[in-house]
Amino acid sequence: MPNFETEKKQYFVGIEGGGTKFNCIIANHPDDVFETTRIPTTDPDETLDHIITFIKNFQNEFQIKAIGLGTFGPLDINKKSPNYGKISKTTKPGWSNFDILGKLKDKLPFPIALDTDVNAAALGEHLWGAGQNLESLVYLTIGTGIGGGVIINGKPIHGLLHPEMGHLLIPLSPQSDSPQGICPYHNNCLEGIASGPAIESIWGQSPEDLPEDHPAWILEAEYLAKGLMNIILAISPQKIILGGGVMKKPGLLELIRENILALLNDYVQHSSITNSIDTYILPPALGDFSGRYGAVALASEIYLAQGV
Ligand code: ZN
Repeated sequence: MPNFETEKKQYFVGIEGGGTKFNCIIANHPDDVFETTRIPTTDPDETLDHIITFIKNFQNEFQIKAIGLGTFGPLDINKKSPNYGKISKTTKPGWSNFDILGKLKDKLPFPIALDTDVNAAALGEHLWGAGQNLESLVYLTIGTGIGGGVIINGKPIHGLLHPEMGHLLIPLSPQSDSPQGICPYHNNCLEGIASGPAIESIWGQSPEDLPEDHPAWILEAEYLAKGLMNIILAISPQKIILGGGVMKKPGLLELIRENILALLNDYVQHSSITNSIDTYILPPALGDFSGRYGAVALASEIYLAQGV
């Protein structure tokens, strides 16, 4: 008699946790996707219950190999920490100290890999997108917040906690009337002066409504280029990938490239920058799916590591 259980197709589950929505995907890689869904980010228990229900609904149709979770933070990703898998202090109501990994593990008996949303996106681009065949890259998202993931030697780096490139301090522009940024922790960090809500606080209009020739974009490119210059000098990545909603504004990427070349002032002598800035700083090849596919990549790594 055939064993129907072993004949089920096997999939990974990727979960990308964001401040406004959680994207879930059931897939093996970008060319083998079974299902995707989007779940609004409300209070943590309700949000996670919807995700768990979504996954369980398909349990009879396929076999889950492992789950990857790439989520917003700050997040404790140190496996030796007593707070491993918990969201740290955050301004998002109800999410501070929430044990997001523990909640999933309680309800879903599969290996679960965890990393930041931006490290997951960086990994997705490294495996299947604009960063293939590189040893190092940075993925920076510019949207409701700013965050960066770093791949070194083909692996996301964590360090003490994880990189927080959105909070690099940025010198204010002489052109700016805005005295300080909106980050509750710092004056004029990158997120505080160049995220979508920061643009809105400076100009009184949401970034989507600001026309392409508005001076807001000159200032935005200046601030992002200052942040990227610091990242280039500190990490020396082989490529920088810029994602997130703010980066969808036509012309912004080109302005950023011009600003970076001017700021670096020929100091970093490598043809990738001096001759090929268009392919050095570039959009994600996976579009809005970098984080989701990256979460699938996290799942595949833990699956392989466990040798199952
Ligand atoms: Zn800050």
